Amino acid sequence: MELVACLTTGRLDGPAFMALATAIGLAVLMFWTSRQDYFFGREHFLVSNAAMVWWLLAAAVEQATPTLACKVAAATLTWPAIVLVPTSWTFFLRHYCYGLDRGRLTREWTISGLLVLAVTLMAATNPLHGLFYGAGTRLEVVDGRASGVFDHGLLFYSAAVVLYLFLVTSVAIVSSAAFRAPRSMRVHFLILLFGTSAPLLANLSYIGVGATFMGFDPTPYAFAFTLLMFTWVIYTNRMFDITVLARDLIYYEVPDPVVVINADGLVAGVNPAARVLLPDLRPGDGIPPDHALAPIQKALVGSGVAIAPHDLSLGGRDLTLKVLPIRQPLGDATVTLGAVALMTDMTEVRRNEKALADALALTRDQVLQISALRDEAERLALIDPLTGLENRRALETYFTALAGATPERGAFTLALLDLDHFKELNDTHGHAAGDRVLWHFAQLMREALPGRSHAFRVGGEEFVILFPSDTAGGAGARLEKLREALVATPTPQREGDTARLIVTFSAGLAQYPGDGETLSGLTARADQRLYIAKRMGRNRTVHLDDLTNGGNETPSVLRDFG
Ligand code: GH3
Ligand code: MG
Ligand code: MG
Repeated sequence: MELVACLTTGRLDGPAFMALATAIGLAVLMFWTSRQDYFFGREHFLVSNAAMVWWLLAAAVEQATPTLACKVAAATLTWPAIVLVPTSWTFFLRHYCYGLDRGRLTREWTISGLLVLAVTLMAATNPLHGLFYGAGTRLEVVDGRASGVFDHGLLFYSAAVVLYLFLVTSVAIVSSAAFRAPRSMRVHFLILLFGTSAPLLANLSYIGVGATFMGFDPTPYAFAFTLLMFTWVIYTNRMFDITVLARDLIYYEVPDPVVVINADGLVAGVNPAARVLLPDLRPGDGIPPDHALAPIQKALVGSGVAIAPHDLSLGGRDLTLKVLPIRQPLGDATVTLGAVALMTDMTEVRRNEKALADALALTRDQVLQISALRDEAERLALIDPLTGLENRRALETYFTALAGATPERGAFTLALLDLDHFKELNDTHGHAAGDRVLWHFAQLMREALPGRSHAFRVGGEEFVILFPSDTAGGAGARLEKLREALVATPTPQREGDTARLIVTFSAGLAQYPGDGETLSGLTARADQRLYIAKRMGRNRTVHLDDLTNGGNETPSVLRDFG
């Protein structure tokens, strides 16, 4: 009832209106803050904001009411807020600076709640003990208006000491945070420190030298200022928006140099990476005309021509320069406020690229080498080392290809050759002489046979010649040429020796596809005819046999020297 009387008898003059208006302003800001993104300690921040609104409302009542009883009642009702503001503020800073989670809220709120209860009880029970506000509490006219002058008692001072401890703790928290924060966040913590110190200084000057604000304790206004400042900081996204912190962090921590240039072409900022790489660029200075970044200055001050991303080499680093123009955010968007020169350090990338290319080239060389070796091995596997002629394996491949390429009505001839009495030659003149004869015979085949025919060594002193598109007759004629050549150029017995080794050969012919369509079929038929040639006295070629038609057919001997 008394309170209602206090509220209705009051006069809303300047100072009271000031407190009320500040309270309303803070309430609006608190509502707005509550709708922003989460930040560490937000709960405490809002509680402290709400308590501040309560404090200012009670202060408005205290100032508006003319009677001492009402002023004391309002002051008593202010105490829950007076306790809550510094405690919540300290807890808020602890959470904010050290990123604490919400798990501690209950315990912290219990501490604040108990303190609120204790101090409010002490103030409310003052009429019983008089230890909170003493007998000297009175009305006095200050600056032409009735103000309550409080005679502070022992309990008041003990409450004040506890709350001071909280305030001092909050200053300590934020000072240590400012000291320990990474460079990129230090400014934010210094703003916090400044904001937190304001109410402490206001209260100290009120208690110490009796400084007032419109005839009233300046502490709540200083707190209101702090909250206002913090809310402004939130509004301008400077502190609580972690994407802003992230942007700053990137600017300070990236290894890539970043140079900010203003519209006048002067260096506005360099990040630490740029400071290391470009020590000649100092904020406030122009860019030297011969500097790698000078074109940006020219583009900004002069024509405004865009600079395309390009590579440059600075201080031994390979960089890719990207120039991002900073446009005026509002109004004429074509107005350029400056530019950001972002240099991506490509040194490692280039080095890795080169190492990779080198490794690739090396493996490519190795692959080429290996495949060359493999080709050589494959080739050697098909070559007879003594004569240099291709071997039986090569014959199989060649035969398959030749048979496949021979037209339906086409034909080719296979000749099987065997040197005569070769064992005897070996026995008489030695194995080395035999080898020389084999080698010599191979060379003769190469020279005497036409380009398209192909000779193979298929056994010790046995050879196969394929005559593409030749009939047996044609092939036989060619073999006679070879026989003549062999007679004309016998093998020298030894190196530089005039003695000659006379050797002859017998041969059997078979024609594809008439005598057989497979290599083995064709060779078998040629072998039969070779056998006939041997039986008929050697040194001859047989191209028809008498074994296939019951011996009626007379073997056709192309040439018989026997
Ligand atoms: P024919 O007229 O009936 O063919 O009588 P031949 O002595 O030639 O026949 P035979 O098959 O009995 O002998 C082949 C000989 O060829 C036996 C072997 O010593 C010899 N010979 C096989 N390969 C080689 C070789 O690489 N070098 C030498 N020097 N002799 C070889
Ligand atoms: Mg033989
Ligand atoms: Mg022989």
